[in-house]
Amino acid sequence: MAEQESLEFGKADFVLMDTVSMPEFMANLRLRFEKGRIYTFIGEVVVSVNPYKLLNIYGRDTIEQYKGRELYERPPHLFAIADAAYKAMKRRSKDTCIVISGESGAGKTEASKYIMQYIAAITNPSQRAEVERVKNMLLKSNCVLEAFGNAKTNRNDNSSRFGKYMDINFDFKGDPIGGHINNYLLEKSRVIVQQPGERSFHSFYQLLQGGSDQILRSLHLQKSLSSYNYIRVGAQLKGNLKFVVDGDTPLIDNGKVVSIIAELLSTKTDMVEKALLYRTVATGRDIIDKQHTEQEASYGRDAFAKAIYERLFCWIVTRINDIIEVKNYDTTVHGKNTVIGVLDIYGFEIFDNNSFEQFCINYCNEKLQQLFIQLVLKQEQEEYQREGIPWKHIDYFNNQIIVDLVEQQHKGIIAILDDACMNVGKVTDEMFLEALNSKLGKHGHFSSRKLCASDKILEFDRDFRIRHYAGDVVYSVVGFIDKNKDTLFQDFKRLMYNSSNPVLKNMWPEGKLSITEVTKRPLTAATLFKNSMIALVDNLASKEPYYVRCIKPNDKKSPQIFDDERCRHQVEYLGLLENVRVRRAGFAFRQTYEKFLHRYKMISEFTWPNHDLPSDKEAVKKLVEHCGFQDDVAYGKTKIFIRTPRTLFTLEELRAQM
Ligand code: ATP
Ligand code: MG
Repeated sequence: MAEQESLEFGKADFVLMDTVSMPEFMANLRLRFEKGRIYTFIGEVVVSVNPYKLLNIYGRDTIEQYKGRELYERPPHLFAIADAAYKAMKRRSKDTCIVISGESGAGKTEASKYIMQYIAAITNPSQRAEVERVKNMLLKSNCVLEAFGNAKTNRNDNSSRFGKYMDINFDFKGDPIGGHINNYLLEKSRVIVQQPGERSFHSFYQLLQGGSDQILRSLHLQKSLSSYNYIRVGAQLKGNLKFVVDGDTPLIDNGKVVSIIAELLSTKTDMVEKALLYRTVATGRDIIDKQHTEQEASYGRDAFAKAIYERLFCWIVTRINDIIEVKNYDTTVHGKNTVIGVLDIYGFEIFDNNSFEQFCINYCNEKLQQLFIQLVLKQEQEEYQREGIPWKHIDYFNNQIIVDLVEQQHKGIIAILDDACMNVGKVTDEMFLEALNSKLGKHGHFSSRKLCASDKILEFDRDFRIRHYAGDVVYSVVGFIDKNKDTLFQDFKRLMYNSSNPVLKNMWPEGKLSITEVTKRPLTAATLFKNSMIALVDNLASKEPYYVRCIKPNDKKSPQIFDDERCRHQVEYLGLLENVRVRRAGFAFRQTYEKFLHRYKMISEFTWPNHDLPSDKEAVKKLVEHCGFQDDVAYGKTKIFIRTPRTLFTLEELRAQM
């Protein structure tokens, strides 16, 4: 069990609650938050509440306290989980993963960084240079990725706008020898537009504010943030690429900008201009240049800007991977190469205006919740089975029904969206909503204004609602079709492929194809995302998981406020109370016979200082009977299981009296 701090800090493990009830859970969570104890266990899960202030609990001395200790020996901490995952990996050669979940602003990214710092700090005692290099790269890659992939949102000043899963590879000594990053769906629409109060990715501001005059000059940039449409909501300013209409024909308003773009992309001005104003289409055997309308030209420009940024981001990840990836590891010489994965992915989001991106992000959170349900239940069940102890089932809200609503083949929302996008001719977002209505009208977790006109929450005809495990979210269908198709005119791809800059050229390999070769429809954005989520979940499920469940205490970023209502909601949807129940169903604690004896053998004359029974199991039985706890325990094959926390307290008290 978690080492009992003084009770003034509340209970260090929620399984120690007298009764498993929401009021008691909340009272403990609040008390601990107010006392600066932001971490609490539920068995092996760490519940974390964002303190919104720097705490002096991540230093070298704290690290030393957790290094190599058992999970329950020290007060709850991220380091305890990190150490447990590390130990499982090292001692048992298990691939492990640490899944960090919680809504936007709950502290996932910060937690993932502390975990990595811990792992870096406890490894490589012999200071091998190569390992130090790898550790440095792993740690430092964070700030590059955050610069390009994080942005200020209304929920979080440093919100991750991409999902990140990082594998750290270890050699047989348990030292990090490399890693690999998988990134998931960058919210690239942010490049061209942001909601009021939000910003584009940090990198833009960092470049404009921090770039030297020389760099800015070479990029033809001005220092002033307000000069640029893409990073200043709603303004119309000089310096940006705009179109004017002459009759039906769009013309580029400010030609100088085109030559700057051409220069920066190492291509030619007339080619940029052509790609902006025309698209090549194959009609039968003819290939013609079709002129854009102004709307198409603006759409094309924005799609191009988003695509450049997205590909740049992926290129950065690939570059980092090239540097950190394990090379020349010979398992026959060095033994098994094991992995700890750390997942930090965008949290569940409810904005005032929720679009395609929130739909994907929230679907991702449904998948992770499903994994949590399966693994936490599965693991518990398996442990009881392994140890030969009967198991009592606990009811959960199983969100599989919502996962299916989104991802099921032919019937799910993504399938319906893809169908709509496949239609030839003009497909509108409204037609997609119609299709949803007709196919999902009876689904208990789906609703729309058409289906339920009296529903006040569904304010607009274009809204639909999904009843997510974490709460109801109203999505506006506006933009779903475009964002899912994610069309980028071929002309831009060819333009970039013909760039004389090899880095740019390599980012656009499809540009090699001629117009007649481009026949196959690319997978849609939602399907690509779905596939990447399925692969991610499969990967996580193959590893031994450790969980950090992050809670956001208030919406004001305040270190003082513990908003009961907000916190209770998160505790509810994260399923933490059920988690406690599962953990206590039957048995709150388990310990190997050997460890149990080691800690408590002084309590009984039969076991102190040594026992003469045939096995540790027999000795533990004798000790337990001697203390009169035989009705509160079960004996597994290798572990003793203790039903109520009270028994353990009593054991601790007896031990202290010796
Ligand atoms: P998103 O899903 O939007 O990416 P997130 O869960 O990753 O959100 P973080 O960026 O980790 O949230 O945390 C938001 C902010 O909260 C941080 O920038 C920091 O100011 C504060 N914070 C989070 N965790 C801690 C901590 N352990 N100590 C101090 N401050 C913290
Ligand atoms: Mg984050």
